[in-house]
Amino acid sequence: DPNEIDKEAHNMDVSYVYGLDFYKATQRYAHPKEVESMMDLIGGRIGTVLQYEGMGFTHEVSDISEGPVMSAYTSLESMDDKLDAQMSLGVRIRAVDVKDVAHRVITRHLLPDIQGSLKRFTGQQLRCPKCNSKYRRIPLRGACYCGNKLTLTVHEAGVSKYLEKAKAIGMTYGVPAYTIQRIALLESAINSLFQSDKVKNSKLDEFL
Ligand SMILES: [Zn+2]
Repeated sequence: DPNEIDKEAHNMDVSYVYGLDFYKATQRYAHPKEVESMMDLIGGRIGTVLQYEGMGFTHEVSDISEGPVMSAYTSLESMDDKLDAQMSLGVRIRAVDVKDVAHRVITRHLLPDIQGSLKRFTGQQLRCPKCNSKYRRIPLRGACYCGNKLTLTVHEAGVSKYLEKAKAIGMTYGVPAYTIQRIALLESAINSLFQSDKVKNSKLDEFL
């Protein structure tokens, strides 16, 4: 149902030509909302038969799935490289508020990722590498029923993977204090999970 897909797709314009008024509006940097009524958008066709047919386009192609064969998203391999490239572009482009980019990357991608994997770690299944049985809880005998040791399916490295990156970007681009504190809070939750809170070998001179 076209009504249930992502709203962004409703903004696709399906005119064969753009009117002169549209081009004139671009000259005075008109707000897109202002020219929306001039455009034939998918959003305006929802519920009619035209939501499925009669869509126009301005450039002829031989294959509808044609597109860039290679993009920076595939040429840059690691998440770190992609992020560094994005940030360095943000620094160089004057129209980009790089502090805002850093803030959005942290709050929309890195923090939800860390929170999600933290939750998945504590509710994870255990797997036997020998017979491949899975357990929702550790069996009372502490090992697989075949006698083999069980392993985790979510690992510590996967949980804290983006923590250092979030801290580094947050510091470098000066994101709001509240966000810095959210990162610190997650860090202490991670430390509390992977390192014992009570067993800390203190030396006597620490109390002096
Ligand atoms: Zn087993």
